[in-house]
Amino acid sequence: VTAQSTAVPATTAQYWCEWAWLGGDEVAASTVVEMAGERITGVRPGAAAPHGAITLPGVTLPGLANVHSHAFHRALRGRTHRPGSFWTWRERMYAVAERLTPDSYHALARAVFAEMALAGITAVGEFHYLHHAEGGRPYPDRNAMGRALAAAAAEARLRLTLLDTCYLYGGIDRPAEGVQLRFSDGSAGRWAERVALLDDRPRLRIGAAVHSVRAVDPPAIAEVAGWAAARGVPLHVHLSEQPAENGACAARYGRTPAELLDRGGALTERTTAVHGTHLTPDDRGLLAGRGCGVCLCPTTERDLADGIGPAAALRDAGVPLSLGSDSQAVIDMLEEARAVELDERLATGTRGHFTGAELLGLATATGVRALGWDAGRIEPGRLADLTTVDLGGVRLAGTTAEHAVDAVVFAGTATDVTHTVVGGELVVADRRHLRIGDVAAALRAALATL
Ligand SMILES: [Zn+2]
Repeated sequence: VTAQSTAVPATTAQYWCEWAWLGGDEVAASTVVEMAGERITGVRPGAAAPHGAITLPGVTLPGLANVHSHAFHRALRGRTHRPGSFWTWRERMYAVAERLTPDSYHALARAVFAEMALAGITAVGEFHYLHHAEGGRPYPDRNAMGRALAAAAAEARLRLTLLDTCYLYGGIDRPAEGVQLRFSDGSAGRWAERVALLDDRPRLRIGAAVHSVRAVDPPAIAEVAGWAAARGVPLHVHLSEQPAENGACAARYGRTPAELLDRGGALTERTTAVHGTHLTPDDRGLLAGRGCGVCLCPTTERDLADGIGPAAALRDAGVPLSLGSDSQAVIDMLEEARAVELDERLATGTRGHFTGAELLGLATATGVRALGWDAGRIEPGRLADLTTVDLGGVRLAGTTAEHAVDAVVFAGTATDVTHTVVGGELVVADRRHLRIGDVAAALRAALATL
């Protein structure tokens, strides 16, 4: 049975992987993966393809996790790369944010999440702060924008951790103004009231986020952290993305942003700090001591000239690392993964800081953990999320089992992904999104309205 002819979703399914990455430096040949409901029930390397199994040719990985996304930034791709700074980029981003409605946000996010599914992403963390209508006026459904994202992810068939973001200020001691009014709930209490109206569903998990120490003051940081702790949900926060953020925080509070978050109880083992590009050595120790993770977004950080984060130092300190596409300059988790090692090489002049298998772990196991999902490894009991990378095209032709992990990480791209399985359901087969069909057309239509 070929993937194309198979109906979805099945409550039980069998997949036969030509090669499967089960962890470690090599791939296993001829592996049968059995599933029931959303979970893997059996993994049998070296087994013949059972009759009726769906064939996954190439290398099958655990599903890729995109830990940090702002779906609507996809509208900026190709339009913001000329000279300017992070701050001029932000003006362009605000101009898009100004125009979005629940309907246009839904259409754009649906297409962007479908692009992610085509890129092998099975779980996304959407750092969501565009909550209200013009001027900060609440929509009749106060969560109209969050629900638009949830509906978009459900239609694109991937897992969504909706990191509902508290955003109150335009900068330290500066009120929100202009489009920022659409981001602000006015207080952390009103943020919490609104978020409490959202519920988890299958493939949807509600988490919390603090936008940054620029946009949330210390009492509100503590309130959001307490809210997330009481519910045991992921808490994400932009941290030390810009030297200017560190400088403003030091001038106002006499501390680094990481120290300020820690005083509010916001650094825990459920916390993911996004970027961490300009962390001090003490900050790195603090994050490690709290069990806090860091999500690196290398393609965004290089596009915005933000700098190279201390990836190896964080790893050496014991900080779990994950990856995000953030500004959607590209959506390609293999590109993010190799960038961690390649940027480290440029920064140090030496090679070999991360192995290919470690980099794949960032894109899979630690990523899904940061989003609160029990996936990330092809083993019984885990959520049945898989991504298959084709080795038959010109880019990866000639790859052997011994070198397949390195070939995929250091030379593979999103366009080499052929199949994506979420919760046992075949979502992408032979590079086609089975629900949405022509994703490029969906993107064109959504972008044209903006
Ligand atoms: Zn971000």
